[in-house]
Amino acid sequence: MTCIVCPRGCSLEVDPEAGTVVGNSCKRGFEHGLAEATHPERTLTTTVRVVDDQGVMIDMEPVRTAKPIPKRLLFDAMREIDALRVKLPIRRGDTLIRNLLDTGVDLIACKDLS
Ligand code: SF4
Repeated sequence: MTCIVCPRGCSLEVDPEAGTVVGNSCKRGFEHGLAEATHPERTLTTTVRVVDDQGVMIDMEPVRTAKPIPKRLLFDAMREIDALRVKLPIRRGDTLIRNLLDTGVDLIACKDLS
């Protein structure tokens, strides 16, 4: 795999069973390679529907997970987020879903909207 931690883009060969990484030029690449091979995670960014009191969509709020979540849960997370409707006002940093899919990670708003 290619290390994406910095622009140098080292080519990594990872053996998750042996816990070895070859081709990295620094410790961050070692950690990234091993994590990517054993429990890959991603920060999820998307949008949520903002509705009025009648449930009519009036805007979209950009959101993201406060921390990376397991990559295998991304589709389930998107399904839960897609069903979410929020109302104004929204403040950047507001928690819109607490403990998304029992990951211990919250979904938070990225923009003030009123
Ligand atoms: S291994 Fe280190 S130097 Fe190479 S791309 Fe990854 S972070 Fe950058």
